[in-house]
Amino acid sequence: MSEEQGRKKKSLEERRRQLLEMRRAILRKLYEIEDQLDDPLPKDDEEAAIELEDDEVLEKLGELELKELRAIEAALKRIEEGEYGYCVVCGREIPEERLDLIPYTPFCAEHAPK
Ligand SMILES: [Zn+2]
Repeated sequence: MSEEQGRKKKSLEERRRQLLEMRRAILRKLYEIEDQLDDPLPKDDEEAAIELEDDEVLEKLGELELKELRAIEAALKRIEEGEYGYCVVCGREIPEERLDLIPYTPFCAEHAPK
């Protein structure tokens, strides 16, 4: 029982799960839109995400959601490449509090686009 580490940093695996969960929430909305059409989506999220890459269904998502989905995909890729958590502009570590707020951000506060 050790509380000595204080605020423990989230592991990459936790972040990955968090990002996948966010992506799932967006895709779920997409399914709801898609449900009103005839074309069923694959059940698996991973597959669906790939199949939807060039699909016009994506256009039905709000611009904001689409941006978020792209950002999440990019963040997941950075986790795989071991670059997650570092600002893509200056390379400094992104503070944990910031990642808690926006887990998919590739920027430190200083370099975030306004
Ligand atoms: Zn930066």
